[in-house]
Amino acid sequence: MSDQKVSCEEVHEHICDNLDEELNSPNCKAIKMHLIECPDCAAYLKSMKTAIHLYKEYPSPQLPESAKRAIEEHIKKIIYS
Ligand SMILES: [Zn+2]
Repeated sequence: MSDQKVSCEEVHEHICDNLDEELNSPNCKAIKMHLIECPDCAAYLKSMKTAIHLYKEYPSPQLPESAKRAIEEHIKKIIYS
């Protein structure tokens, strides 16, 4: 079961679920294996992390709710595109 294969689609889905855990949960083992072998998914993960890092790194208390929501929508688009 440790060499269970996952598809790129599954990787994308589970990356979304597990980003906060830095993919350290045992369930992510197959995903990690996939990321090592699949440059496309590795690049996808990197772009996801960059977007979320930027979002967390530069919290702007002065931003109006509408602007915050626009940023959230933008990140969602990156995640689900
Ligand atoms: Zn892949």
